[in-house]
Amino acid sequence: MREELVETIKSIQLKIDTSKAALEFDKKVQSFIELLNNYPEAWDVIFHWKEHPKPLVIVEPTHFDFVKLKSEILNIVSGSHYLREFAYSFFEQYEEFEHENEKIKKINEFLKKSRDENIFEPKSEYMLYCSQCGKTVLVNRLDEKDKCNCGTSYDFKFSLASVPNKIVEGIISGHLLELYALRVVKMIEGLRLIGMEIGDEKEKSVYTSIEYAGIGVGDKANGELDLLGLKNDFLVAIECKFNETTYDDIKDFLGVSDNLFFKVRESHPNVKMCKVIFSYNGSKLRSTNAFLATSLKNISSTNQLVKEIRDILH
Ligand SMILES: [Zn+2]
Repeated sequence: MREELVETIKSIQLKIDTSKAALEFDKKVQSFIELLNNYPEAWDVIFHWKEHPKPLVIVEPTHFDFVKLKSEILNIVSGSHYLREFAYSFFEQYEEFEHENEKIKKINEFLKKSRDENIFEPKSEYMLYCSQCGKTVLVNRLDEKDKCNCGTSYDFKFSLASVPNKIVEGIISGHLLELYALRVVKMIEGLRLIGMEIGDEKEKSVYTSIEYAGIGVGDKANGELDLLGLKNDFLVAIECKFNETTYDDIKDFLGVSDNLFFKVRESHPNVKMCKVIFSYNGSKLRSTNAFLATSLKNISSTNQLVKEIRDILH
């Protein structure tokens, strides 16, 4: 019965979004999603970064107190335009949650790994800080033997890393969140994802943003679903919103997934529907019997998300 159900659904698949599919297969994007899987806190910095995309600042060593470091540096960079620019990029990066030091340290670790694993591109521009004499300098290359004029080694090194185009594209379009959601649902035991085979390669499937015939809402005949899976008798439809999600944002999704459900139920009367919203901030959406709303902003780990979804599928 499950096989037939999947076939019924596949029979109304219309098309994929080719530019989104390209991201799904991009190696760098995949590595980035793997890292995000271990550092979901990083969604916070990514969310604010998309308003002002620019190189990200990484601090080493990675144990530091953000507020303390900020107040020390703030006082000494005011004289130089370039130092100020550099330092302010660092302050701005964390200004939305500057009192959450543990979160900032985790995010910094995430950014450092993104660079060390060649996902982000390093820039040869560094700011060094000596807390002994309270001095900051900008350099274009690093020499381990470099010491501050006062004779001690610099305490902190700040470096810059750029985000590659494909990842920028995924962040701005919000598609990166769909890829993360895909990674999350893959961790749900027994859940089968329904993808669409592309080209001649039968083994190559796309799983995100698939358009289905006859399930549209309003004046649209067809409807798109970000992700669709099947676990036991549950069809799991997932919508991703990389914003502060309101009910208005998900209205169409609720209609489209209902229409799919009604269509499938004609031939498979036992099927049930479960709708999940992956939101950056879903606190305005109250989870009801009709759907589960998650907030990336508030999750402590990817496993917690996996558990939240798994718990409603029984
Ligand atoms: Zn010094």
